[in-house]
Amino acid sequence: MNIKTEVCVVGAGPGGCTTAIALAQKGIATVLVDRAVFPRHKACGEVITSNCIRELAELAPAIFDDLKNADFKFDIEGNTFVAPNQYTLEIEYKSPSNEELGLPHCYTASRYDFDNFLVQSIKKHYPSIQVIEGCHLTSFEVAEDFAILKSKKNQSTIKSRLVIFANGAGNALTKRATKAKKRPKHEAAGVRAYFKNVVPSNQPDMAEFYFFKKKYMPYGLYITPLPNGLINVNTMVRKDIAEEREVNLRGLMMSAIEQNEALRKRFENAEMVGKIQGCSLELGSRWWEVSGDHFMLVGDAAGLIDATNANGIGHAMISGQLAADFAKKSLDTQNYSAQILKSYDKALQKRMKNSLKLSRMVSPFFNMPFFPSLSTWLLNYWMKKSTDSQLLVKLMYSKNAAKDLINPRFYYKLFFG
Ligand SMILES: Cc1cc2nc3c(=O)[nH]c(=O)nc-3n(C[C@H](O)[C@H](O)[C@H](O)COP(=O)(O)OP(=O)(O)OC[C@H]3O[C@@H](n4cnc5c(N)ncnc54)[C@H](O)[C@@H]3O)c2cc1C
Repeated sequence: MNIKTEVCVVGAGPGGCTTAIALAQKGIATVLVDRAVFPRHKACGEVITSNCIRELAELAPAIFDDLKNADFKFDIEGNTFVAPNQYTLEIEYKSPSNEELGLPHCYTASRYDFDNFLVQSIKKHYPSIQVIEGCHLTSFEVAEDFAILKSKKNQSTIKSRLVIFANGAGNALTKRATKAKKRPKHEAAGVRAYFKNVVPSNQPDMAEFYFFKKKYMPYGLYITPLPNGLINVNTMVRKDIAEEREVNLRGLMMSAIEQNEALRKRFENAEMVGKIQGCSLELGSRWWEVSGDHFMLVGDAAGLIDATNANGIGHAMISGQLAADFAKKSLDTQNYSAQILKSYDKALQKRMKNSLKLSRMVSPFFNMPFFPSLSTWLLNYWMKKSTDSQLLVKLMYSKNAAKDLINPRFYYKLFFG
């Protein structure tokens, strides 16, 4: 297969699909390629957050209308956080921006269904986008003012003015293009498993986050309800810790369930559905170059997950639309150089500054030797006091989080208010 196009988007996850839609809306010839054939699984907490709902509703209202009527999603109300000493804190998902726009706040949906829904919706609503599935691209080079992508054994060649990599985290193809170094302190390793026959919690419409005891802080066990009584359980550990201690993530997940009395009872008759899926993710705790000659990176490929809450789908969608804007500028001026595309890096950092501020602020502390003990103590203390959780909700949805987080009054209120 030999294809020539203006833009090739590599990866048809939420980042790639959003990018392709935004490009098609600008009248740009787009090829969307994925190594998988949809539907396919993707390890994730599967919370479709408020920013994700907003981005989709604003970009593609017809697709969003179909999503509202889809039966593969679950309306989730919020999150219960459980501290290492079992104190709990409940936070309702209530985004003022979504409220203003009359949009729902949050869903859960398996990525098997949600990502397939996006790909099939593209085929239905945007026939100008050429979707190619089952094509694993393995090489990228630049020649004669084109980017050339090739699949394994050169079975397919795509010649494109611009490439937008939306191919997820830790991908060899992107690493070669960007020359990004591996930084295990900025990466996490995770696993996800589905269970049925789990006794629902007292609040069946809430997701649950159980922080680990000291050793593996700051992460834990995340449990999300899906439709038809299916439960998603996933866990993450920072990659350097996982490597150093040779952590068996499956074992860690099962022992976290076993060691918590309430969970152990609820999982007594649980049956695992399908296989455990592993994953690696770049935590949004560092910036690196996300563009170069003839290419830009979006979503997980650009490391845009919030390390504090694994919110990444919405960020992938935001970056995809931004990359489409810069692709248009490049095509209009027929300039695809790294120098020109550098402005995408700057615009992305500016756009994501607020959303990734918390991630960036706390991640340096993760490296300090006392951090696991300190964070455990703080969580135990703070959840016992059960201070104003609405303060956190406000922060989560604040348009000024970057400012709030450097305001000492915020911390005073959080711990003593
Ligand atoms: C354990 C865990 C829990 C998470 N929980 C949440 C959550 O609850 N909510 C949330 O918003 N985010 C969550 N995230 C983050 C979220 O999963 C990602 O941010 C999101 O999937 C990023 O979307 P993307 O389109 O950038 O990449 P992906 O969804 O990873 O899509 C990349 C696509 O590229 C394709 N691809 C890869 N390489 C190639 C290649 N060489 N050639 C062709 N195709 C290729 C893949 O097949 C895939 O379809 C979680 C992540 C993890 C790991």
